[in-house]
Amino acid sequence: MSAALNERRRRVMAGNWKMYKTQSETRAFFAAFLPMIGDAAHCDVVIAPPFTSIAAAVDAAKGSRVAIAGQNNHWQKEGAFTGEVSPQMLVEVGCTHVIVGHSERRQYSNETDAMVSQKSRAALTAGLIPIVCLGENFTERETGKTQEVLSQQFIGGPGALTAEEFSRILIAYEPVWAIGTGRTATPEIAAAAHRFLRQCVHDQFSPAAAATLRILYGGSVKPDNIQGLMAQEELDGALVGGASLDPKSFAAIVNTK
Ligand code: PEP
Repeated sequence: MSAALNERRRRVMAGNWKMYKTQSETRAFFAAFLPMIGDAAHCDVVIAPPFTSIAAAVDAAKGSRVAIAGQNNHWQKEGAFTGEVSPQMLVEVGCTHVIVGHSERRQYSNETDAMVSQKSRAALTAGLIPIVCLGENFTERETGKTQEVLSQQFIGGPGALTAEEFSRILIAYEPVWAIGTGRTATPEIAAAAHRFLRQCVHDQFSPAAAATLRILYGGSVKPDNIQGLMAQEELDGALVGGASLDPKSFAAIVNTK
């Protein structure tokens, strides 16, 4: 990546722990992980534990460069929404980021593009950086509908934000067929999808918004494929599920330059 581009689009390595790790497991992870990444000055590092382990993660990450994220937020500040957590609550506990619209939430909790846009706006209002996920499933790719799906998810989700709001988000391209399957997109397939998304941003907002947006790739990222993925100029980092649970493998991913 050219120095100028690198300066404009600082790499982000984010771990999504899904429904894994208790508080004590979280403390053990950080005790092993932090010494392995040094000051990780070449990239932003974010970890998204489950809600009940966020406080332990914030405490364990204190004094390091690791930022903590929620995995979801509601669009209201408070209310009768059993089981939900507001972005303000995430900020209070020490989060700076939140994952929005992950495919598992779209699949199991019926999250729509409109909800993704509402949740992103609410997160931004509270001062969080949303990591907005989108991506096609296997059938959609196989039937040549990838661009149609990405465009639809983009327009109804992050594309519905204002230009100012949009300038503060991160996007994660996560092809559903690559999540938790061990089937990583090739660097070329990932780069083509990122280029397409950047074109959507160009058309919806501006050339400047397209040039500065950071797009992470997610889907079976591992220490042995991260180098090839990051060699693509289009990829500004990774959203990592399974491989972020192990301190050694996530440190290897974070330390890739
Ligand atoms: C994810 O959960 O966002 C993800 C990409 O998972 P995995 O790396 O395990 O495929």
